Formats: sequence, C-alpha cells, structure tokens
Amino acid sequence: MQSLAKIIKSKRTANKSILVYIAMVCCGTIFACTVTLSCPGETPFLVKYSAWFMIILSSIFYLWTFGYSFHKQSLSLKLIRQQIHNFEHNDNIGMIMIDSEDELSELVKVINHYLTNIKFSFEKYQLTHRELELQSRVSETERLQAEAVLTSISEAVIVTDESDELIMGNQKAQDIFEFSTDLNYRMNIKNVLDDTELVYMITEVRTKHLNQITRIIERPCPVSDRMLTFKIIASCVLDSKHNATGVVIVVHDITAEKELAQMKDDIVSCVSHELKTPLSSIKAYAEMLADNEIDNDVTRVEFCDVILDQTDRLNRMISDILNISKIESDSNPIEKQTLILNTFIDHIIDTLKPQALDKNITINVDIENDKLAISADRDMMFQSILNLLSNAIKYSNKDTTVIIRAWRYSDSEVAIEVKDHGIGIPENSLDQIFDKFYRVPEHRSFAGGTGLGLNLVRQVVHDIHNGRITVQSKAGQGSSFVLYLPFTPVHEFVLS
Ligand code: ADP
Repeated sequence: MQSLAKIIKSKRTANKSILVYIAMVCCGTIFACTVTLSCPGETPFLVKYSAWFMIILSSIFYLWTFGYSFHKQSLSLKLIRQQIHNFEHNDNIGMIMIDSEDELSELVKVINHYLTNIKFSFEKYQLTHRELELQSRVSETERLQAEAVLTSISEAVIVTDESDELIMGNQKAQDIFEFSTDLNYRMNIKNVLDDTELVYMITEVRTKHLNQITRIIERPCPVSDRMLTFKIIASCVLDSKHNATGVVIVVHDITAEKELAQMKDDIVSCVSHELKTPLSSIKAYAEMLADNEIDNDVTRVEFCDVILDQTDRLNRMISDILNISKIESDSNPIEKQTLILNTFIDHIIDTLKPQALDKNITINVDIENDKLAISADRDMMFQSILNLLSNAIKYSNKDTTVIIRAWRYSDSEVAIEVKDHGIGIPENSLDQIFDKFYRVPEHRSFAGGTGLGLNLVRQVVHDIHNGRITVQSKAGQGSSFVLYLPFTPVHEFVLS
C-alpha cells in the first residue's frame, strides 16, 4: 500500500491567510484538499516548515487508509471463515463470496477454482461410493440367498475359492466331514477335510478346469460305527475370462441306496439258495408220489407231510421277504389301533398250536390284566410276536415249555416277553441275530430258517412303533426276548 501527499501550491489570501492546495494518493485513489492557514503578519511557522507538515499529514492519511483497508479485509476474512464453516456444517462444498476487489478477492478466486475442482472430484467419488455401496448390498443379498439355498437343501455342499480355501459349507457338510465354517473359514481345504482323496479331487477340478467329476467315497459315520457311502460331484466355477474362481462340491449320501442294492443282491443270492432246498425236496417227493413208487399209505402220508412242511417253509420265507421289503420301502400304510393284549396274544397262539403240538411244547400265557393294551399296527405286531413265539418253539427241544408274559413295565411302557428253555444262542452271535439273513451257524442243522424273522421284529418294534427289543440267552440254557412298547390306556371297550 503506497501513499503520497504533495503541496500543489500555496498562496496568501487578502486577509493574509495562507491557502495551501494538497494532493494525496492513497491506495490508488487521489485525494485533493485545501487548507487555509490563518496567520497574519510574518510567514507562518507551518509554511516555514511545510515539508514536515506534509510528511505528518501524509502519515495520518496513510494510517487512516491502512486502517480502513485492514478493517475491510478482516470483514472479508470473517465472511470467508463463516462460509467455510457453513460448508463444513452442511457437508457441502460451495463458492466463497466476498464483496471486495482487492488482492484478497484474487486469492478467493484461486481458492474458488481449487474448491470447484475438489467439489467435482468429491461428487465423482460420492457417486462411485454410492455405486459400490449398491453393488456390495446386491452381492451381500445374493450371497445370503445363495447361503439360504445351500443351507436348506438336503445334500451336503462345500464351496472353495481359487486358492482352495473354504468359503462355505452347509450344516450337512459340516456334520459329515466334521468341520465348522466359523472356525475353518478361509482355511486351506487340506487343513479342513481329513479326506485326502476329496482334497485331491478339489485341487484337480480347479487346476484342470473340469466341468464336473464324480467319485464315490466311503467314510465312517461320525455318530455310529456304520460305514457311509457318498457320491461326490465336484465342478469348477469359471469367470467370464475362463479363470477358475473356485470349486463347488455336492455330496450325496448314497448309503441307503447302496445298502438296498446290497440287500437286493443278498436276497437274490439267499432266496435262490434257501428256495432251492425246499423246492428240490418238494420236487423229489412229488415225483416219487407221481411215479406211484410208494406202495404203502403210511409212507405216502409221510411224503405228503414233507411236501406240506417244505411248502410252509417257502411260504414263511416269501412272506418274511415281502414284509421286510414293505417296511423298508415305506409303501405299507401303518394303521395303529388299540390292541388288548389278552385276546390279541390268544389269536397268535391259536395260529401256532399245530407247530407246538408237533413237539409237544406247552405255551404258558401270563398277561398282567385283561385291560393291558398297546397301540400298534395289528398285522405287523401279529407277525412280530408270531416270529418270536415260532422261534421259541423251533429252537426248543420236544416236551418243553414256552412262556409269553405281558405286564406294565413303567408309566409309559408295556413289556412283552417270549421265553423258552431251548438251545439258546452263543454269546458271540448275540450281536448279529437281528441282522438280515444271519443264522447262528450251530443252529442250521437243528432247524431251517431264513434269518429274516428277527430283523423284521426289530424293524416293526423299533422303527414303526418307537419301541425296543432286548435279548438274553446262553447256549443250552434257553432264550428270553422282551419287547418294550408304548403303553396305551384303554378308556372304553375296544375289540382287538
Ligand atoms: P430264522 O428264520 O433263521 O429263525 P430269525 O431271524 O428268526 O431267522 O433268527 C435268526 C437266528 O437267531 C436264527 O437262525 C437262530 O439261530 C437264532 N434264534 C432266534 N430265536 C432263537 C431262539 N428262541 N432260540 C435260539 N436261537 C434263536
């Protein structure tokens, strides 16, 4: 800021005063003024020292104009500060406006230019940020949907990424392979799965970009000592540039299918074997009868009895097979009804009387009271108790006793025991007697059978009626089979 004051001229007026013309330049503005110095007589002191006077005067002007301009600038700065504060408060970048045309306004122009650039970039980033936020929300929703689908499907599913790290595994997969997605998330799959074959398969599918490969693996059941069979289907996931982004593994539990197939094979081989013996003896005896080779009636009757006996055996085997297959295929509608044990057991014994009479075996019945009842499918329960009683007679010697007892075992259970004094079961066979087609080797020569009867009993009691069955036996000391079934109170008279 520059300031200059100069005396243009001075003259003495008629009354001897001195008139001084002063011109001043301050902040680019020219100021002019006249000062009348009333000083008659001698040359006044001020005129004498006019140079000093001018300097003082110019300094006063200088200070005044400097003060004015300082005041104006501080107002502008206050305005700038206020506007910046507003920008900050409203989270918005605007232009700074000031009402002056000095150096400060030049600076404000530069700042405004800079602010315009910042605002432009800020808006651009805000837009990108919003787009990214939207994209992230969409992908999060998609991820949750995919997770919900994978969780709800009955198959086990595992998902790995491009580095073979675990991304996802639904509950079924976690149960089968005993891992936790929370604990093992983003861990390399070789440290998560204990199945090296499956780990190798995942790496192979990813590195070779295979669309789909299938393998069958076997692994022990985590909660029992059963062996489970799984069909594994692994597929590589490729992005638009054909880079492998991960692998999806779907695990189907085919244990039941495999067991069914195995059972069918067993049935075919066992049935063909078991059917052959009675069929060949029926054929042989029938041929002899047809060829009239028998000359006396007693032998003829004996032959006919053998044929009838073998036919019964065939009949039993076929009905056991049909019953088991009905239960296993769930095709048989279960119709539970209240069965009063007293009368129900009498009906079963009636059916077995001829078999018991044959060996002179007495069947003792001991039912706690005539109101004791269970709720069960009549045909299935009939067949089950019949099987137990039939075995008791079959694996007993002549002239012995078989006992059937029923009593209220607890508040919720009724027990039915079938006890014999027969040949008993060796200890090492007790675990297997409920398995399909299992027959105690030592008993094969004692009586014929299919090895299906007890399996059927267990399925009927355990799977259909939520009951249980126990066995106590010792070789040569007889056997005791007890069924525990849910108790049903009888409120009214029900016919069994
Ligand atoms: P099966 O048709 O051979 O009798 P089950 O399934 O009924 O078939 O019985 C399986 C095996 O258990 C029989 O072969 C027999 O060895 C043994 N078993 C079953 N019940 C008795 C019993 N009361 N006494 C002795 N052994 C028995």
